[in-house]
Amino acid sequence: MRTILRLGKHTAIFSILFSLANWALISPAYTSDYITNYKRTPAIQNLPPQIAEWKSTPTVLICEHAPIDEVRVRSAVAFWQRLGYKILHLQSPIMEPSPCDQKKPTGYVTIHLITDGIPIPPTSLAETRFYVDNNTNEIEWATIYLRADVKKTVLEHELGHALGFLHFNKINHLMNEMWEMGGWDTDGLERKRE
Ligand SMILES: [Zn+2]
Repeated sequence: MRTILRLGKHTAIFSILFSLANWALISPAYTSDYITNYKRTPAIQNLPPQIAEWKSTPTVLICEHAPIDEVRVRSAVAFWQRLGYKILHLQSPIMEPSPCDQKKPTGYVTIHLITDGIPIPPTSLAETRFYVDNNTNEIEWATIYLRADVKKTVLEHELGHALGFLHFNKINHLMNEMWEMGGWDTDGLERKRE
């Protein structure tokens, strides 16, 4: 009787240790990063911080090798249009030189594949860089880098950065920095109309 009890105890401890190890392996590691030159710290508030808006309506470009098709990009653009943001969309860049080849594609949001030359942490699903004119608080350009397997909400999240939003770590929110904690909640993302 005693032996059986002791065995049971050990089994329980082992299974706790096992689940802890498992938890460490599957704990959220996928984040979405952004890089911006913005100088001021946004005020603390219980809404997603939007640090700037676009000077003019941006055009979204799907660049060569971008791991995403036009249907998916149109859907993500429509998502933000429903929230009040006007974003144009072009299927592929036809102008020369192409904004896709520019480091600072003024007036555009360019979408790229993450390649070896772009230093992005291995835990990041994507990264958006956006440039703000610190005198006017207006966004001049944005570039989005995606991994080959674009998970749901990732493109919409990155377009959020391209529109000047930072992270907002509410569970199920689109702008949650941990992908596994995020979702389709758009609380605070609607465009404030003048
Ligand atoms: Zn992010």
